[in-house]
Amino acid sequence: MPRTPPSSSLASPQRNRPKAAGLMRLEAQVRRDLDSIEASPRAWVPERRDPCGSVIADVVIVGAGLSGLSLAFGLKRQGIERIHLIDVAPAGFEGPWLTTARMRTLRSPKTLSGPDLGIPSLTYGAWHEAVEGQESWERLDKIERAAWMAYLAWFRSIIGLSVCNDTRLLSISQEENHLRLHVEKDGQGSSVSCRKVVLATGLEGAGGLRVPSGVATLPRQRWTHSGELIDPGILSGKRVGVIGAAASSFDWAVTALEAGASSVTLLARSPTLPRTEILDWSNFPGFLNHFADLDDQTRYRFTRRMFAFKTPPTKEMYERAMAFSACRLVTGANIRSIGMATDDVAISTAAGDFVFDHLLLGTGYSVDLSRRPELADHVDQIATWADRFVPAAGEEDRDLLAYPYLGPAFELMEKAPGSLPMLANIHIFNSAAVPSLGPICNGITGLKSGIPKLVSGICRGLFMPEAEHFYRSLDSYDKAHFQPERM
Ligand SMILES: Cc1cc2nc3c(=O)[nH]c(=O)nc-3n(C[C@H](O)[C@H](O)[C@H](O)COP(=O)(O)OP(=O)(O)OC[C@H]3O[C@@H](n4cnc5c(N)ncnc54)[C@H](O)[C@@H]3O)c2cc1C
Repeated sequence: MPRTPPSSSLASPQRNRPKAAGLMRLEAQVRRDLDSIEASPRAWVPERRDPCGSVIADVVIVGAGLSGLSLAFGLKRQGIERIHLIDVAPAGFEGPWLTTARMRTLRSPKTLSGPDLGIPSLTYGAWHEAVEGQESWERLDKIERAAWMAYLAWFRSIIGLSVCNDTRLLSISQEENHLRLHVEKDGQGSSVSCRKVVLATGLEGAGGLRVPSGVATLPRQRWTHSGELIDPGILSGKRVGVIGAAASSFDWAVTALEAGASSVTLLARSPTLPRTEILDWSNFPGFLNHFADLDDQTRYRFTRRMFAFKTPPTKEMYERAMAFSACRLVTGANIRSIGMATDDVAISTAAGDFVFDHLLLGTGYSVDLSRRPELADHVDQIATWADRFVPAAGEEDRDLLAYPYLGPAFELMEKAPGSLPMLANIHIFNSAAVPSLGPICNGITGLKSGIPKLVSGICRGLFMPEAEHFYRSLDSYDKAHFQPERM
C-alpha cells in the first residue's frame, strides 16, 4: 500500500505556512529552556573500541517511536552522547500513527506530559499553540493522530536526534566486553557494536499479532489484523465481521463502513462494552513511580487486574460506527467455531451463527519473546515470571507467567545465573515490561515515570564498570582554578 499521511489540518503544509513565525519563537524558547536547566552536560562515558577499531556505541535504541525518541532525549540530558537510533520503518512512519492506527484522534487526554520530559516548551500543547494558535488549543478536545505524528517529527528535529531508518535489528550476540547487533538495511547485512541495547519496539515488538486459532485456519486473504495495513477499498460491498469490541474494533468498523462495506457486525465476547480507560486510574506518581518496588505477589495481582480492563473506543469512533444502519454490535458472542462454509467465513457464537466475506481482527497483541527474531536465539536463557514466581492456586495465568521477569533497569535476567551475562545489557521498553515495571513503557501516560527510571538504570550500568577509569581521572585531575600571583 502506498504510505500517504491522512489529511490533518495541523499536518498540512498550507496551514503551517503562516504560523512559521510562531514555531520559530517556540524553537528559540526551547533552546533557552534547555540552556537554563543544564540539559546538555558534558559527555562522560569513556570511549571504547571493538577489536575492529570501531568506536563502541554507548546505547543503541531499536525503535524510533514515541518511546525511543523520548529515551534518546533522556539519555542526552545525562551526557550520554554515543546513541544510535534505528527503525525498520521509513522516516516519518515510525510507530502506528500514520499506518495501522485508524482512529481520527488519540485516545489519551491532550494534557499528558510525554516526550517533553517536563519541559513546557517541548509539550504537544506548546507546539500546537505555536502552529495553530492558543484559541485552537483551547478548543481542541483530543489530539489529531496525524498532528501527533507531525509533533513527534518536530520533537525529533528540535532535539537533534538522527535516526537510521529502514534498518531492522535481526539478532544480538555477545562479544568479549560488548554486544554486537546484526542489522539489515536495503537487503544488506551489517553489525553495530554497543554496550547496551534498548528494545523500544512497540506493541508488536513484544511478541506478535494475536490471532485466534480458528482464524489462522482460514484462507489468508479472508482476514486482516488491526496491526496490518489494508486497502479499505477491498471491503466495499462486503459483509464484514469484526472480532472484538475494544478500541481498535470500532476503528475497524468505521474504516469498513466508510469504505462501503454492505454490513459490519462486531462480535463482542463480553456482555458489555469496555467503558473504563485504566490509564486514567494509573496516572498518579505513587503507582507509576513505585509499582516496580512492590513484591512479586502484589505486582502479579495488580497486573492481572489491569489486564482485565480493555481499551474502550473513543466516544467519537463508537458514535460514528453506530450511526450507520449497516453496523450491528452483538455482545455475549463467545466464539465456538470458525471455518469456511463453501465461499463464506462461518462463525458460530454463543449469541448466534454468522457468515461473512471478510474478517477484521481487533484481538490485540500477544507478549511472547520467542516470536521475536531478535531474541529467539536466547529465549531459553531469559527468565520469565514463571521461573521466578509461583501464583496461589486458582490464580495461574499462563499468558502473564510467560512475560519476561525484568530487573529494575528494564533489563532481561538470566534463567540460570551466569548462563548469559549479556542479558543485563538488553533493556526491554515495551508492553513486555508491564508486569515487572508497571504501565510506564507502553504509552504516553507512563513515559514521565518510565523514561527517567530507564535512563537512570542505563547511566548506572555505564558508570559502575568504569569506576577505576573515573578514579584515575580524579587522581590525575589538575585543573587550576586560579593562578596565584606569587608562589
Ligand atoms: C492504534 C493505536 C492507538 C493508540 N493510541 C494511543 C493513545 O491515544 N494514547 C496513548 O498513550 N497510547 C496509545 N497507543 C499505545 C502506545 O502509545 C503506542 O503504541 C505508541 O506508539 C507506543 O510507542 P513506542 O515508541 O513504544 O512504540 P511504537 O510507536 O510502535 O514504535 C516502535 C518502533 O519500533 C520499530 N521496530 C520494531 N521492531 C523493530 C526491529 N526489529 N528493528 C528496527 N525497528 C523495529 C517499529 O518500526 C516502530 O516504529 C496506541 C496504540 C495503537 C496501536
